[in-house]
Amino acid sequence: MAYQCFHCEKPADSVHTFTVYDENGVEERLEVLCSECYAEWLESLKG
Ligand SMILES: [Zn+2]
Repeated sequence: MAYQCFHCEKPADSVHTFTVYDENGVEERLEVLCSECYAEWLESLKG
């Protein structure tokens, strides 16, 4: 089963998932990112 990247919306065989929490710390949803977008996302976290 192929996943679809949440960010660029391309199908991706190799994906990274991470959980998004709302302001109350409640698990909101699981996001799927391809390797490229995941790398960008990690960079954005560093500032
Ligand atoms: Zn992507």
